[in-house]
Amino acid sequence: MTVPIKNDRAAWLHGPSAQCSQLPAAVKLPLRLVLLGAPGVGKGTQAELLHERLGPCHLSTGDVFRAASGRSACEQSPAMAAALAYMSRGELVPDATVWEMVKERAGCLRCHGGFILDGFPRTLLQAESLRTLMEKEKITLNAVVDYELPFAEVVSRISGRRTCRTCKSVFHVSQRPPQKEGVCDHCEGPLFQREDDRKEAVSVRLQTYNRSTAPLIDFYKKMGLLVSVPAMGSPDDIYERTVELLKSDLIH
Ligand code: ADP
Repeated sequence: MTVPIKNDRAAWLHGPSAQCSQLPAAVKLPLRLVLLGAPGVGKGTQAELLHERLGPCHLSTGDVFRAASGRSACEQSPAMAAALAYMSRGELVPDATVWEMVKERAGCLRCHGGFILDGFPRTLLQAESLRTLMEKEKITLNAVVDYELPFAEVVSRISGRRTCRTCKSVFHVSQRPPQKEGVCDHCEGPLFQREDDRKEAVSVRLQTYNRSTAPLIDFYKKMGLLVSVPAMGSPDDIYERTVELLKSDLIH
């Protein structure tokens, strides 16, 4: 299998007026996935591996907010500035703001290369909005992957996580270290610890996950889309498990 070239996801990160560096190759049956799981469970790492090895873009709502946080205050809309304040406290951004942002990026959901949604939907209202939009666009989800991990391991993963400031790739100081300390393997950008990975914000995020996002597991189970994946082990082990558990006819 040829390794797809990493896309810069410009249209997703910066909005529909930006152009992606690399349009994903058109495939007959594009893979369209949602990844669920507590913060720190490794969704971003798995989304990246799925992108690198299978091609669909990694669409993370958290990455859109982080990309906006790198802009100057006058370049940020008032809604975005308010969203970033929620994020730094570890709270969910209001549904209306998140939905506005996703809706204007609907082109990424229609993309002929498919997609891997990470961090969206995060509430039942967001899941309903996504379902309505996809029905209207006549596109369907292939599966919703729920990553399961004990609480103590979640906390350890979050505290060791480092993110690339430039291309947003995710590393872990001990479990997935970069080849050169503090430097991204993909683009040589600087690695940093996210503000919301601080201790105070982490406990808020975990409580919020249990209250607002965990109910989505049942929502997607009832739709017959849920695939539960134990998230213990190395990123490669979890990736192999994910691909095995997804029906073989989804992978091209
Ligand atoms: P993690 O999954 O590790 O919590 P993300 O990068 O997905 O990290 O999200 C970081 C933060 O961005 C969240 O804590 C929240 O404040 C905000 N956010 C991202 N996606 C959503 C969403 N779908 N709804 C509400 N807030 C969101």
